[in-house]
Amino acid sequence: MIRKFKVQSSKFKVHPPRRTKFKVQKKFYYSLLLITYCLVTLFCACAPHKEKIYRKSKILMDTVVTVTVVSNSGNGGGKAIDATFKEMERLEKLFNFFSTESEVSRINKYAGISQVRVSPDTLDILEKALFVSEKTGGAFDVTIGPVISLYDFRKKIKPDESEIKKKLPFVNYRDLAIDRNRSAVFLKRKGMLIDIGGISKGYAADKAVETLKRCGINSGLVSVAGDIKAFGLKPDGTPWKIGIRNPGIPSDSVLVSGGLPDDIMATLDLRDGAVSTSGDYERFFILDGKRYHHILSPKTGRSAKGCRSVSVITKEGVFTDAFATGVFVLGPEEGMKLLEKMGFDGVIVDSQGKVLVTPNIRGKVEFRKVA
Ligand code: ADP
Ligand code: MG
Repeated sequence: MIRKFKVQSSKFKVHPPRRTKFKVQKKFYYSLLLITYCLVTLFCACAPHKEKIYRKSKILMDTVVTVTVVSNSGNGGGKAIDATFKEMERLEKLFNFFSTESEVSRINKYAGISQVRVSPDTLDILEKALFVSEKTGGAFDVTIGPVISLYDFRKKIKPDESEIKKKLPFVNYRDLAIDRNRSAVFLKRKGMLIDIGGISKGYAADKAVETLKRCGINSGLVSVAGDIKAFGLKPDGTPWKIGIRNPGIPSDSVLVSGGLPDDIMATLDLRDGAVSTSGDYERFFILDGKRYHHILSPKTGRSAKGCRSVSVITKEGVFTDAFATGVFVLGPEEGMKLLEKMGFDGVIVDSQGKVLVTPNIRGKVEFRKVA
């Protein structure tokens, strides 16, 4: 009996009942599931997150500033954008023409009196402004302050000839002395005023991009009104597309057709570079059928004639901005020659609405087909 029992017992061991077999299988599947789960989690943690576009806008430098970045994290992208706005706020404090606290105001206050010590950014932007003044033969002049102050484009105020005559002698970039060794700037005559409105937005766009890169961003776009700087590619691998406005279409009558707003006359692919557009439609008023706009000829003190808009494309925003203003003042013919001489790309719309382009730009800019 005992033997028999033993045999039964060993039989029992060799062939476990069906319930236990099921338990073992269940355990095995659970372990497999757990391993798969761990592997998937590990893969997700190690694999790069999908890159997305993050964008924020803010009113700065008296205009709308938009910073766009490509990032694989909303947190990282947002932090980089905030750091960029902070950098631009810092520059705005240095350059603000109207704030008595700014370095530009201090230089103006001590005109004809003494040198003023300034920060590296103020020194840098003024050196670049003088470079553009030289290259444009004074069409771009950062000492335009005394004359531009006679206009109020919101209140439709323009000076008469005698007022302009009194102020014009104080406009001359050659009387702006920069002492690099002492980090100091001096306006040689009392009554002179620096106004960096024609160069500061492009400079700020350059600095904004530097900040984004420092924050680890590899692709982005900064637009400070008409001054735009881009780097890297969009998440789909294509370059940033920039619209060039048609100066003949007032912005309050813009419709969207064919996927683009009506006032966009051309688009261009911007890879690691800047584009600035200066137009007679930005700040202007019309009085007795005449248009008074904010880009002045330093020779006459009046709104520059000959162009409706000028777009300049090159690497640095500080130069696209200042040259767009300077070329506008020079007019279409001389302006075109200068752009070619500088090796910049450009699009000029003259006062008759004719579009002129630099030879190398063909193929880079796509003009909208007129139906
Ligand atoms: P926006 O400010 O609309 O982008 P611009 O870059 O052309 O346009 O700058 C125009 C500003 O530049 C004016 O508001 C004025 O402050 C300044 N400015 C006007 N005429 C000249 C000039 N001939 N040279 C240098 N700066 C100028
Ligand atoms: Mg400009």
